[in-house]
Amino acid sequence: MTTLPTPDQLHRDTLAVRTAVPRSQYGENSEALFLTSGYVQPSAEASARRFAGEEEGFTYGRYGNPTVASFEQRLAALEGAPACISTASGMSAILMMCMGLLKSGDHVVCSHSMFGSTIKLIGSDLAKFGVQSTFVPQTDATAWQAAIRPTTKLLFAETPTNPLTEVCDIRALADIAHNAGALLAVDNCFATPALQRPMALGADIVMHSGTKYLDGQGRVMAGALCASEKLVAEAFLPVLKSAGMTLAPFNAWVVLKGLETLDIRMQAQSARALALSQWLQAHPAVAAVHYPGLASHPQHGLAMVQQSNCGGAVLSFEVEAADDDQASQRAFHVLDALQTLSLCTNLGDTKTLLAHPASTSHGRLTPQQREAAGVSQGLIRVAVGLENINDIQADLDRGLLTF
Ligand SMILES: *Cc1c(COP(=O)(O)O)cnc(C)c1O
Repeated sequence: MTTLPTPDQLHRDTLAVRTAVPRSQYGENSEALFLTSGYVQPSAEASARRFAGEEEGFTYGRYGNPTVASFEQRLAALEGAPACISTASGMSAILMMCMGLLKSGDHVVCSHSMFGSTIKLIGSDLAKFGVQSTFVPQTDATAWQAAIRPTTKLLFAETPTNPLTEVCDIRALADIAHNAGALLAVDNCFATPALQRPMALGADIVMHSGTKYLDGQGRVMAGALCASEKLVAEAFLPVLKSAGMTLAPFNAWVVLKGLETLDIRMQAQSARALALSQWLQAHPAVAAVHYPGLASHPQHGLAMVQQSNCGGAVLSFEVEAADDDQASQRAFHVLDALQTLSLCTNLGDTKTLLAHPASTSHGRLTPQQREAAGVSQGLIRVAVGLENINDIQADLDRGLLTF
């Protein structure tokens, strides 16, 4: 039912449209969407073997689905990963990873610039179950090293980060993890496999929110973990079976189709992000611009090597202001003046989306956590879409010129 070209025979752009096309007996050319929660078994014997994992074959919707499997195979091919397992959202992928790898007393090292909900999940929710964690400065490899304990099982990094686009050295963190007998997981939401393939740099696990660039048009929630076949089969699949954070087949189908245009979207949106960041940098109402593609970015050199010579499609900037109150007032003013672009706390859409991280994605953090993450009151995140760059600039100018 599934045709799987050999990844080493085909190029990545070909794999994006040709890997794992599920077809029914009707021979449709577009990927089939299989909506079913159960599967009729050929015999009681076969059913028993399938449930025991001794025979290939679908048994129940929580455990697997052909459309979901196609998405997993295609994402694995793009990441250069041996295997992939998908989930209902990016956060449930992180939960699956932690439930699969950690027990009470184990220790995780993360950066304190991680996605806000990741900090909450690992630092607070999992702490209730005895999982210990240390949050370190994103770009300081010696701090990651110093945080290692005998109980450290996992290093979890996100690069570039949300919303400051700080870049860490994946290969250096992989070495630190492996010397400590731990695993390195990388949240690859921002760069995507179009720009960055962490497993080639030594990462053991690549985590995705499919909600973002993999879908690419802001339609569905999805998540995934790419890893070795052993990790997927022995650590993650058992969690999926018992905890049920299963990706819905329809959502898998949407994201599967999204992967076909990932590469050209990332190229086009990143080109606009670079142009916009250069324009913002020269703007009198802007105090700072954070974008890895700018020569002024502290990790510009590393980002260009690690991310296929590309800064990605997300940037953030700070409005000029005398103090915190004025900064948040001015940031709100810029966002409220938008007419074309969207005030929307998402990213990875073909529509340009703007957000105020301090009051949204990072709003649940304590002021100290927010400060450690570098999220100031005047900070605005821009996830650049596919609109014309002149229209994007004009819409931002509306607020920036009228403080
Ligand atoms: C959105 C996001 C997540 C969480 O994904 P959901 O699909 O919203 O659960 C995790 N990490 C990063 C970097 C994200 O942007």
